[in-house]
Amino acid sequence: MIDSHSHIYCDAFDEDRDAVVARAREAGVRHIILPNENLESVPRVVALHEQYPDYISMALGLHPEDVHDDYLDVLAKMRPMLDQYPLVAIGEIGIDLYWDKTWREQQHHALDIQLHWCHELGLPFIIHCRESLDDILDVIDNLDCPVPQGVFHCFAETPADVERVRRRGDFYFGVNGVVTFKKSTVPQLLPAIGLDRLLLETDAPFLTPVPHRGKRNESAYIPHINDFIARSLGVTPEEVSEATDRNAARLFYLEL
Ligand SMILES: [Zn+2]
Repeated sequence: MIDSHSHIYCDAFDEDRDAVVARAREAGVRHIILPNENLESVPRVVALHEQYPDYISMALGLHPEDVHDDYLDVLAKMRPMLDQYPLVAIGEIGIDLYWDKTWREQQHHALDIQLHWCHELGLPFIIHCRESLDDILDVIDNLDCPVPQGVFHCFAETPADVERVRRRGDFYFGVNGVVTFKKSTVPQLLPAIGLDRLLLETDAPFLTPVPHRGKRNESAYIPHINDFIARSLGVTPEEVSEATDRNAARLFYLEL
């Protein structure tokens, strides 16, 4: 199993980060990918990758919730870092209109710029999409470069939306602990996504799967997500982990 989206570099793990990584290995997690948030988080992401270079890979990008007035300045500072570090993706990037629509236009522009980075560097994207699928598809449809590969992380729209996304390119869908929640609609998306387009993720420290809901999330909980998906699709847990490993390896060019 691969945790394709984890923020275990954040301060929620400052007390026990090494134990968290050790527990992930024991739980059968073969690899962890860290999506970045903003300029401040870059040193943390880099340090954790450098401590576990074969086990933890990094992505860089500006999170949509961190896109404000100064975003062009921030992106200009981030751009040289992309040449400096071994990246598996640009992320996390995207549009988030859940709390605040103030920076909508800026989020559009930041996403467009960072999708161009993907094209320029031959890297996939990790997209964060919340209350913003139409906006994101609008940016993708208006790209003036070829559409890169990527993953829509934490995807929680409708089965029809899965189709809308799939029609537009070589895209995967990240499913996390939300799938295990009691009133979750994500299980209904699984047949539309299909095993060949699915990635496992935690989004740790958030979105902790049942039966650990309420606690801090960590990569070692991935088996709960894997097994829930298997039961939901009527396949074995091994089929889910093998398919999702293969998908992550293909998308992020991982050598496992
Ligand atoms: Zn995230």
